[in-house]
Amino acid sequence: MHFQRLKLSGFKSFVEPAELRIEPGLTGVVGPNGCGKSNLLEALRWVMGEASAKAMRGAGMDDVIFAGSASRPARAFAEVALTAQTDPDDAWGGELEVVRRIERGAGSAYRVNGRDVRAKDVGLIFADAATGAHSPALVSQGRIAAVIAARPAERRMMLEEAAGIAGLHVRRRDAEQKLRATEANLARLEDLMAGMD
Ligand code: ATP
Repeated sequence: MHFQRLKLSGFKSFVEPAELRIEPGLTGVVGPNGCGKSNLLEALRWVMGEASAKAMRGAGMDDVIFAGSASRPARAFAEVALTAQTDPDDAWGGELEVVRRIERGAGSAYRVNGRDVRAKDVGLIFADAATGAHSPALVSQGRIAAVIAARPAERRMMLEEAAGIAGLHVRRRDAEQKLRATEANLARLEDLMAGMD
């Protein structure tokens, strides 16, 4: 999966629609202090499903919406779209567009190639591609120290993310839940059949 474009509208300081093109190789973001460099990285995390407002440096998730300035009113929503090139033979036909939108007081909604999906589906897409909101590939300020100080269990999670197997845990939990429900149904069926004897 190769990220190609990040589009922001109403996200943090990006009140006007803005687009970041991500070319193959290295992409550098330079600018004076406070111009929004970290906000760009946060937008990338956010569209991939970040659920923690604290990780977005806010008190609540609505804090990612442009809060207004001396000359501009606050916005009612924020939207971030990420376009990525994928395998031509995969479920998305080679081009994936994930859009996350948040409305003040109404929470987030996701779309993948125009279809409404759950946050969990978005998480799985990126986990399978060995990336995601918590990918160790996204290195923000202070993160290096956090990686060095990580506990063994946290390091294991980082390695699993890098290996692209993090999504398997979610699938395993789902499969176990279905298995338990099926076992309960079977037990009930056996009771009913015993009652018919
Ligand atoms: P530095 O180089 O100092 O780390 P930076 O370029 O990474 O800075 P950011 O931290 O991305 O800058 O951007 C900070 C700016 O974003 C601040 O001016 C802050 O007021 C603004 N900002 C953050 N959230 C919002 C919001 N919801 N609405 C409007 N502006 C916001």
